[in-house]
Amino acid sequence: MKIFHPSKMPLTISCPASAAEIPGEMRLKSIGDPAQIGSAVHAVAHEIVEKDLATLPDLRSYAAKYGIEDKIDELGMLSIFALQAWGELRDYFAKPQCEVGFEHITKDDREDVMLRGTIDVKDTIVSEKAPRRVAILDWKSGYKRRNYVDQLRAYAYGVIVEDPIVEEVSATLVWLRDREHRTFVFTRKELKEWWQTFLLRNAFWDGVTYTEGEHCEFCPRRLECPKFHEFNKSAVAIFTDEKIKEDGLRLFGEGGALVSPEKIYRAYAQARLVQSVAKRFLEQLKEDIEREGPVILNDRAIGLRERKGKTIIDPLKAWPVFEEHFSPKEIAQFITVNKGDLTKTKSAIIPRGQKGKAIKAMMEDLEGVGAVSNAPPVNMLSIIDLDEIKELPKGEQE
Ligand code: SF4
Repeated sequence: MKIFHPSKMPLTISCPASAAEIPGEMRLKSIGDPAQIGSAVHAVAHEIVEKDLATLPDLRSYAAKYGIEDKIDELGMLSIFALQAWGELRDYFAKPQCEVGFEHITKDDREDVMLRGTIDVKDTIVSEKAPRRVAILDWKSGYKRRNYVDQLRAYAYGVIVEDPIVEEVSATLVWLRDREHRTFVFTRKELKEWWQTFLLRNAFWDGVTYTEGEHCEFCPRRLECPKFHEFNKSAVAIFTDEKIKEDGLRLFGEGGALVSPEKIYRAYAQARLVQSVAKRFLEQLKEDIEREGPVILNDRAIGLRERKGKTIIDPLKAWPVFEEHFSPKEIAQFITVNKGDLTKTKSAIIPRGQKGKAIKAMMEDLEGVGAVSNAPPVNMLSIIDLDEIKELPKGEQE
């Protein structure tokens, strides 16, 4: 039986080869910090919804349970938005239930296909109004991606096949990192068509077609996939292009571009992908070595070398000592206050419904004493819309 999970739908639809299991092929799994943070924040969100909390639970126990004590700030940042988002969305869930599993098998001549998943939050009451609707919610702890709707469709499909009277599913995706949520409404008819198209086009790989792209970053086959190797080889080729090498790896010369924009654009996308795949591979290798021990080859080994941890000073305990040794002006030279942490702390001590007003008043007070300024902007390499370009590239100015 072929088993599909909603979280893998976007990848399987982009490249059906990604779901193929080839005997003897090495498959990558995702067990690094991001996965642990994701599990921890899901557990926190579960408690928020189940107990309908207005403030965050103690995050230290979650950080310890998932082994991310050093990432507790990140967990706090994600959890605070889960709390805020739930405050805004709870009215759509009359009787929410967390982590509702489903399994649905479709008989197929080639091989039976199972869709199996767990819905983060599901309303257990079907709306009485026609068309009868169920609300579901999915927490996302990673960065926003473009092709996420098929994952939601898969959860929604899991709802309609289990409950024949549901005609519509409203599915909300909460991007905790981007602090956004978006709701889609799917009808039973659309969802049934979507599943049929998936069975027809994506569930069964033809054994030869590979579709490479940004999604390869999440593919468990990427270490051994021939298409991905080709893709990486062409990425490396552009950086070692003779013409570019002669010019000291510069892509642009005095008179304009040395290579075509198409080549640079492709090289940029490939370089980002290679960078992220390499990063994930190294993270996974580290975790495997932590668990299984060093990888030995002849007289050498890939192992772990301990690096001394940073010295951490607890500001609360240190405060009287600071005052004894430094003037307020001197203390200000080594203390930095992050606006996100400041508003998070304020938000945690103010009752619901008054948070926004209290934070605004605090920021106005800080501005009033001249304590607020903006750091100069930093330029980051990114793909941007043309209307964001303020200056024309050299050589094209009028
Ligand atoms: S690495 Fe990319 S091309 Fe290869 S199977 Fe995976 S998604 Fe498809």
